[in-house]
Amino acid sequence: MTDVLELSAAQAAEAIAAGSLSAAELFEVYRSRAAADRDAGDDGLNCFTWVAERGDEVGGTGAPLGGVPVAVKDLFCTEGVPSQSGSRILEGYLPPYSATVVERLSAAGASLLAKTNQDEFAMGSSNENSAYGAVRNPWNRERVPGGSSGGSAAAVAAGLAPWALGTDTGGSIRQPAALCGIVGLKPTYGSVSRYGMIAFASSLDQAGPLTRDVRDAALMFRHMVGRDDCDATSLQFPHEISLPEAERLDGVRLGVPEELAGEGIEAGVLEAFRAALARAEELGAEISEVRLPHAPHALSAYYVIAPAEASSNLARFDGVRYGLRADDASDLLDMYTRTRHDGFGAEVKRRIMLGTYALSSGYYDAYYGRAQRVRTKIAQDFRDAFQQVDLIATPTAPTVAIKLGEKTSDPLSMYLNDFCTVPMSLAGIPAISIPCGLSGGLPVGLQLAGPAFSENRILDAAYALEQSLGFDGVPGRV
Ligand code: GLN
Repeated sequence: MTDVLELSAAQAAEAIAAGSLSAAELFEVYRSRAAADRDAGDDGLNCFTWVAERGDEVGGTGAPLGGVPVAVKDLFCTEGVPSQSGSRILEGYLPPYSATVVERLSAAGASLLAKTNQDEFAMGSSNENSAYGAVRNPWNRERVPGGSSGGSAAAVAAGLAPWALGTDTGGSIRQPAALCGIVGLKPTYGSVSRYGMIAFASSLDQAGPLTRDVRDAALMFRHMVGRDDCDATSLQFPHEISLPEAERLDGVRLGVPEELAGEGIEAGVLEAFRAALARAEELGAEISEVRLPHAPHALSAYYVIAPAEASSNLARFDGVRYGLRADDASDLLDMYTRTRHDGFGAEVKRRIMLGTYALSSGYYDAYYGRAQRVRTKIAQDFRDAFQQVDLIATPTAPTVAIKLGEKTSDPLSMYLNDFCTVPMSLAGIPAISIPCGLSGGLPVGLQLAGPAFSENRILDAAYALEQSLGFDGVPGRV
């Protein structure tokens, strides 16, 4: 038998179904690797906030995912298992239920391997805003893995989990996938239930897969989608998610928006991106320019809308209902204040202040109202572009992984990391990041976006490119 670590999640599920691999053994291989990372402290990658104790009951059910272990971002509620969204304020919180997507994956046979480290309440692009400490990038331990799903991305890239669940509000699946050299899919808003996800910005948050290859992304997504009565914004996906098979891109019209693929993008990233476009052309794609005139305003709109929604969502953490409570308070108000002072980190406090200000009477229309109007324009730009092309291609992130600590004191420059990913989030449309090469020895991501519910088309195109690019996604096992 080949080394089980070499198997993709889909291959592992097939081997289990064929009887050539034991689900319990597979689980134990990954469980011990994840536990070793957890126990390694500073010598590890710090990917995990919790690791399963044992996997005796794993497998044997005949379910399609056959017991293949899955790592789950901390912010998904998992029954009886710590779920803190990377925050101190949820210390000690053990949810009495599991998020719908976790339930669905588990019903399909996936076994909970571990919870992954993340930026606190998913606010961040480097995973340095976690109460559990920063995660390291397996390609270079002095670099960040991206964020906010940095633990999920680093774990998959390092072979500490076959695949992982993340969330993307403005880029938090795609950007860490790009920086760690793996695949990340942000689905159409509403296609996956948000029930049981600890909310950041509800009109943007979406769960999605972080995987070693495109086929695994399709397979996990297939078992996540669908309407859920517990989430009124969830929708029935209009068709089955198929496993991608395309080898060519004949007739696929790929649009490249100058606004997101020129100025502000690092030279090495642009080079790898352009080489991937040339490859797409060889595979039969028709490449043309498209315009997204309002895309450069996406970040400004996002950093009003997301903090506004966060300030409202995070109001529930008051020391009364969940997790941490300051015990030295003189009265109720003092207890609220001290709990929030002690429980939230600096970035979360910054967003709560920004959001509360943007929503305050007198400023509401000037900030929130205007940002919503920009959001509408951005969605319209995409609709116009998709009259001319099938998919839009951009680099996923403007740079490769930055050094730990490089931007922590400069939040505005940190926010620029999301320049290429935020427009799709505001428009609610799906987008994938696949690795398309290296720059200075670090992975570069290519982003493909399409109209709402075009996931099958995106996955097919990403698969054809992936096969042809043949990216070697092994950074050297840790
Ligand atoms: N980095 C962005 C932010 O800090 C996006 C985060 C996300 O997608 N959760 O808000």
